[in-house]
Amino acid sequence: MQNDPRTHGLWEVSAPPVPPTEVLTDNITADVVIIGAGFTGLSAALHLAEDKQHAVVLEAGEIGFGGSGRNVGLVNAGMWIKPFDLCNTLGDTLGRRLIDQLSDAPAMVFELVEKYGMACEALNNGTLHCAVGQSGLREVTERARQWRSLGASVELLDAKSTREKVGTGTYSGALLDRRAGTIQPLAYARALARAAIAGGATVHTSSPVVSAEPAPGGWKIKTSRGSVTASRVIVATNTYSNGFSQALQTELVRLPYFNVATRRLSDSLLASILPERQGLWNTSAVLSSMRLDAEGRLIFGSVGALRGTGKQIHRNWARRALSKLFPQLSDVEFEHEWYGWIGMTPDSLPRFHRLEQNIISISGYNGRGIGAGTSFGRDLARLVTGRMTEAELSLPLSEVANTQFRVAKESFYEIGSQVAHMVGHRF
Ligand SMILES: Cc1cc2nc3c(=O)[nH]c(=O)nc-3n(C[C@H](O)[C@H](O)[C@H](O)COP(=O)(O)OP(=O)(O)OC[C@H]3O[C@@H](n4cnc5c(N)ncnc54)[C@H](O)[C@@H]3O)c2cc1C
Repeated sequence: MQNDPRTHGLWEVSAPPVPPTEVLTDNITADVVIIGAGFTGLSAALHLAEDKQHAVVLEAGEIGFGGSGRNVGLVNAGMWIKPFDLCNTLGDTLGRRLIDQLSDAPAMVFELVEKYGMACEALNNGTLHCAVGQSGLREVTERARQWRSLGASVELLDAKSTREKVGTGTYSGALLDRRAGTIQPLAYARALARAAIAGGATVHTSSPVVSAEPAPGGWKIKTSRGSVTASRVIVATNTYSNGFSQALQTELVRLPYFNVATRRLSDSLLASILPERQGLWNTSAVLSSMRLDAEGRLIFGSVGALRGTGKQIHRNWARRALSKLFPQLSDVEFEHEWYGWIGMTPDSLPRFHRLEQNIISISGYNGRGIGAGTSFGRDLARLVTGRMTEAELSLPLSEVANTQFRVAKESFYEIGSQVAHMVGHRF
């Protein structure tokens, strides 16, 4: 996208074609305006279309341009923080509601994929949270205990079973979460858009929103070349917010994350590496992740931005790390590489804001946006149509906050990941 192979990498090469869309050049009306064509905005558009509401989606770049088209594709249940910590932060009622919602989110994604016949390499065969060392094992053991007490279908694997599932003896154990799985994320975003458009939604790309002005009938949302007037507005710009709300743009701390992808592995390599095709990530402080795509390419990622000195440092680390994990891959070449920004919040929980009367937003999924974005997109659609009240949402309404030391934290992530990868931290 945008002539840069390092934005969406493999996903752009292997995704089905994007549905045709146009730039907004007129002044039009709609029931609901949605700003941002990622999982959140597109799920909202699809659910509004199912409810016979005319939604117009305005996207600054292309469908899936933000985090949705760049991610690893792990369809996880739950948030980054442990389920009990979530209750400690939100209180029992909201906490339990959010746990249930996020626990069900992968099923919602896979059901939508099935219902609309979405071609997005969806595999609902679990993910592995792999333990690094004894502290990592304690971490996944506690997570397994908490999830099991909540009735979730998770299993704690010992080192031997983990070795069988992954193909390396590096990990001391793993949490196998059978609710979860993998998708091709850009293909999923495009498929959501295709289903929403078929249901009656309109998507305008290359149409950056520059302002919102009160107007008879609601809000006039202006792009550089046109406008949409509607009574209700959903802002789904998340970490890639740009040019519309300065407050949203500086609320989340951006954590860089990159992926590299090998050529298709041979059948004999595929028999020994992730033979059941679960995706995984590990407990390391500078975490890494791994999965196969439908063709059998290995996708390996970690914290870091592929720019400046980071490009070579992270590439070299990925090569070294992969050949330690799987000596049979010591001469493997990477055919694709890409990176993006994950939006983090200080308490690791998403944010729900009412920016103005009838303008609402949800953002800050802390790297768990496939399930969360799809599920909260549906909730935003329900909120603007009155099918749900704010009190029924699983997130509290909050003011947009100015995150302390945001720039320093972002530099720490970017430079810290380079240092960690240079000194060869554990993976
Ligand atoms: C490298 C990486 C790896 C990740 N891995 C995973 C993973 O494995 N599993 C997981 O669940 N999550 C993962 N995530 C997180 C996940 O991708 C995001 O949480 C999710 O994509 C957020 O979706 P969204 O629709 O809310 O926002 P986005 O997909 O970021 O969409 C926002 C859109 O708003 C548009 N926009 C911004 N400003 C304007 C404007 N003024 N006018 C019009 N449009 C505008 C942007 O162009 C963008 O397309 C990862 C993220 C990254 C970057």
